[in-house]
Amino acid sequence: MPGVTYFKPAGIPLRSLEEVRLSVEEAEALRLKELEGLEQEQGAEKMNISRQTFQRVLASARQKVADALLNGKAIRIEGGNFEISPRRFHCANGHVWETPFEAIAEAAPQLCPVCNAPAVEPLMPVGFGCGGKGRGWRRRRPAVGNSKASI
Ligand SMILES: [Zn+2]
Repeated sequence: MPGVTYFKPAGIPLRSLEEVRLSVEEAEALRLKELEGLEQEQGAEKMNISRQTFQRVLASARQKVADALLNGKAIRIEGGNFEISPRRFHCANGHVWETPFEAIAEAAPQLCPVCNAPAVEPLMPVGFGCGGKGRGWRRRRPAVGNSKASI
């Protein structure tokens, strides 16, 4: 989830302030492409969507950001249609487990649920290349398009 969800130009009175809404997956596509410098194929893979969908989401995001920047509009990042992948850990004894994104944010260091050994390191998110459907905690929002991104 993005740390900042509202962006407002200085010096525009609230009543004449227009707002564009950027969905969470649009913000994520923008982040992967422009900040992490990924190619569209890589970005699409990270979000578990097709390259065509990634391209469409990215184009929409760029258009909205340009509109806000050049026309002095606020940007609100919210909604969309996505789920946050659980993170996968493993211990020194070879046990592998998944922890929902939500639990990691609050939790102490991860311990193996089988042998209590500390987690060695987080593995790649489940959504990366091996499909994250039907597992763990998920968060759904009303669909805007018909793409479902996995972040
Ligand atoms: Zn273990």
